[in-house]
Amino acid sequence: MRQAAVREHVKKKFKGKQTLQSKVHPHQPESVEREYQRVTNAYMRLLSKLVTDTMIPEIRKAAKAELPPDYYRHDDMDDLYRRLERAFEKCEKELERKARSFDLYKRISEVAALTVKLSIKDWKRMVKETVGIDLLEDYYNGDFFKRALEEWTRENVDLIKTIPHQQLDKMREIVLEGYRNGTTTTKIVKAIQKEYGTGRSHARLIARDQISKLNSEITHKQQQDAGVQEYIWSDSGDSRVRSGHHRLNGKKFRWDDPPVVDERTGRRCHPGEDFQCRCVAIPVFDIDTLDL
Ligand SMILES: [Zn+2]
Repeated sequence: MRQAAVREHVKKKFKGKQTLQSKVHPHQPESVEREYQRVTNAYMRLLSKLVTDTMIPEIRKAAKAELPPDYYRHDDMDDLYRRLERAFEKCEKELERKARSFDLYKRISEVAALTVKLSIKDWKRMVKETVGIDLLEDYYNGDFFKRALEEWTRENVDLIKTIPHQQLDKMREIVLEGYRNGTTTTKIVKAIQKEYGTGRSHARLIARDQISKLNSEITHKQQQDAGVQEYIWSDSGDSRVRSGHHRLNGKKFRWDDPPVVDERTGRRCHPGEDFQCRCVAIPVFDIDTLDL
């Protein structure tokens, strides 16, 4: 719509005021977070299967065949280490092979598309209920979204891919260190399984962080494209909110001038951009700049 026509159309809603805060509160797309987690969990299961089916049996076999009878004070265990190294190389190759057929890129790009879909739905409600305009379904299909989504997808694929590899490295360390220190095979196996659990919770944190970042990027673009220059910072209101963000809660800021979130370093950002941030930006519509 032309800007002047928009102004005429929404005049009643503004009731003579210059700005109007969104009547709908934006929310973090938690259902997409869960979808992202489903993908990472499935990806991580490639490793867990490898650990159970290949790694642990190989370690047990190697220990049985090569562990010297006076293991606890023996320091010549080269044969065992060589055999373990070979077992880990085998696992690494197997992981590569399985990962290739997983199609992580496709699954993560579906998560990205879903984030956009929910974000648009949220935005349409905010616009409709606040200024009374119905946005078309194909309102957003510009190059920006395509590019931003591709970039986000690529970065996330790289991020997720590194987790099982890092874990494999860590497991290798646990095993070699364990035998070097005279730990029993049973304890070593337990430590490996525990390490796998750590990787899973790491993946969960990534999901929350990355979805929030993407959502924040989309929100920023949507609002600015519509001529929204200001927003109200809104924290999630629970105990996990960091003090630097809570301080900003309820205050108005500009999209072209992010507030300081860390007074010590002077670092600035918008809601949702910080690590694990769950804050959102409530748009403040201005009758003179509104452009829908
Ligand atoms: Zn926050």
